[in-house]
Amino acid sequence: MKLDFFIKKVKTHSNMNFSLNQINKEAERLFDNLRKVGWSEPDCELIAPLTMEINQLKKEKDVIILAHSYITPDIIYGVADFIGDSYGLSKKVIEAKEKTILFCSVHFMAETAKIMNPKKTVLIPSAASCSLAESITPEDVRKLRKKYPEAGVICYVNTSAAVKAECDACCTSGNALKIVEGMSQKEILFLPDELMAKNLQPLTKKKIIKWTGRCIVHEEFSPKTVDSVRRDYPEAKILAHLECMPSVVEKVDMTGSTEGMIQYLKKSPAKQFMLATECGLSDRMKVEYPEKQIIGSCALCPYMKQIMLKDVLQALKEPRKDQIIELPKEVVKKAQKTLNRMVKIAEKQIFKK
Ligand code: SF4
Repeated sequence: MKLDFFIKKVKTHSNMNFSLNQINKEAERLFDNLRKVGWSEPDCELIAPLTMEINQLKKEKDVIILAHSYITPDIIYGVADFIGDSYGLSKKVIEAKEKTILFCSVHFMAETAKIMNPKKTVLIPSAASCSLAESITPEDVRKLRKKYPEAGVICYVNTSAAVKAECDACCTSGNALKIVEGMSQKEILFLPDELMAKNLQPLTKKKIIKWTGRCIVHEEFSPKTVDSVRRDYPEAKILAHLECMPSVVEKVDMTGSTEGMIQYLKKSPAKQFMLATECGLSDRMKVEYPEKQIIGSCALCPYMKQIMLKDVLQALKEPRKDQIIELPKEVVKKAQKTLNRMVKIAEKQIFKK
């Protein structure tokens, strides 16, 4: 991952007075993980006062910091209490004992946290969106319902709360097929990810009706990239996210969710892996499984990478209105039903009331 990208981000210094000894100790802690993704000791010294201030404040203010795997490694290894994909993070939201959840991720995920645990204060350091979530509105869903009155409506978790409120069931990349199969209808409107819908169609007898949303990160991978990795690293296992193009999916060794990819890599005896997904996951695997070699290219999500340590600190200190997730009660109630339907099909009820 490109180091310059991060260094440009670290322009803010902490206001707290830490001793040189404390800074060196924190820099050492950071360097232990961040060196595996190309950070130098001086880089870690530069961000150490910030991570110390954030970690101190989150304890004082009873805040848990959750970070998606695609967030930058300074946040992941510097201040996050839990790292995961949307499904893993949702479970943590339910279990959280702290008064406030600070969600380092894109906006729809923080909204989902609020839907799942409405009594908590949910903060987001930067109101970053997502090309999938932006591709569809509640009005679009209402129109589609009129056009396909017999169809069951499933929305991928990468949708706004208002869109979730208009659907029958939600799904994640890990349980999408299970939810499609678990619906009573023979026709399924699968929203909004066109490529995921295409990838699911050969796996089910149900008719899947697609929308036109795409993840701008995962659609970047091409079959040519897969072919060149196969040629240069014949022993490597190639893993792709379900948001990739079908022409990529048909060439790889495994397709699934972020968590599914982690589990595959962990259990596989192979030594080399290409991960056709966002660079954050490649970075996590380099840090957490240093014995495995991550090869080939990855792609950066411009939305996830918007969040910086200085934003986390600012949101902790004095959150602005746009950093506090507020949702209309009616939207929360309806979106809870949609998420509950997913949970009912996939596993047990997990929401807090
Ligand atoms: S990686 Fe794709 S789906 Fe995930 S937040 Fe970025 S644009 Fe959205």
